[in-house]
Amino acid sequence: MPPRTCALCNDARAILKRPKTGQQICKDCFFWVFETEVHNTIVEAGLFKPGDRVAIGASGGKDSTVLAHVMKTLNDRYDYGLELFLLSIDEGITGYRDDSLETVKRNQQQYDMPLKILSYDEIFGWTMDAIVSQVGKKNNCTFCGVFRRQALDRGAASLHVDHIVTGHNADDIAETVLMNIMRGDIARLGRCTMICTQGEDTIKRSKPFKYAYEKEIVMYAYFKKLDYFSTECIYSPDAYRGHARAFLKDLEAARPSAIIDIIHSGEAFEVREEVKATQKSQQTCKRCGYMSSNDLCKACTLLEGLERGMAQAAITDRARKRLDAEGPAPDNLRTIPFFQNSTTPGTSTPVALETPS
Ligand SMILES: [Zn+2]
Ligand SMILES: [Zn+2]
Repeated sequence: MPPRTCALCNDARAILKRPKTGQQICKDCFFWVFETEVHNTIVEAGLFKPGDRVAIGASGGKDSTVLAHVMKTLNDRYDYGLELFLLSIDEGITGYRDDSLETVKRNQQQYDMPLKILSYDEIFGWTMDAIVSQVGKKNNCTFCGVFRRQALDRGAASLHVDHIVTGHNADDIAETVLMNIMRGDIARLGRCTMICTQGEDTIKRSKPFKYAYEKEIVMYAYFKKLDYFSTECIYSPDAYRGHARAFLKDLEAARPSAIIDIIHSGEAFEVREEVKATQKSQQTCKRCGYMSSNDLCKACTLLEGLERGMAQAAITDRARKRLDAEGPAPDNLRTIPFFQNSTTPGTSTPVALETPS
């Protein structure tokens, strides 16, 4: 049988089967369609304007490494006029994040982008290793997720960027749609498919890989020989998400369009006004100034529990009541530095960037 030719250029030999469409195509056409689809996503959503300072949330993993590469490629090819930065969060997980940060430092040189690393230890005074030694491996993802969100915003504010892009891909979003349906969290369902989110005074966040399949991201990294770190977090991942992921992979095996179809279904839901009305209005945290729907933001609540030796206080109502019964937080409680938005003029401090060694 003669070798198959590429279904797109009809010229070169097809060497791969595209996971998203099943087409047999050549390597160059694969790079081109993958990049062009991301470009189309960016243009259709109007994500950027010339002169924007954009931070790429970089973990050293495949998604953010491919994102950094593709953002740089598209910024050059289509003259987006963006100033790109790498922003990494060091959660303080020995044997995992320390190794993946070495990958990010190499990416910084490979892509020639300024890099800022911010650690949980310097913001919150706790590493994830220390948190897990307190709370065990059951609820540690709650702490990590809440802390990471704030850390990224704080890092972005210190870089004075307008926008954070993250490597969330189509599989991640489809999983989240399924999880929100399974939990009946309709308010979140309405938000989780949005390509771009912006709270009142937080920095814009978006997901240029919203429609990019995880399998294609892996393929892209492989054929481009990108340098990335491929170990899973050593602490137990969110078990419920694991079920959604396994289910989604089964669906994808039976019908590859399932991933996109689930995202489109999520987008098509209309959230009723009564449901929207149950969402609390946003204010700022009394202790740290970060946006919050309560007096204290989630990170301050979690930190207070850790500092007062009752880490469960932000997780279960019963533990919260026990903590409240002990009285108000002591005056000398360790708190998170006050949040300063990058758009607040005159509050900036010079930023220390990692210098290439
Ligand atoms: Zn081709
Ligand atoms: Zn707070």
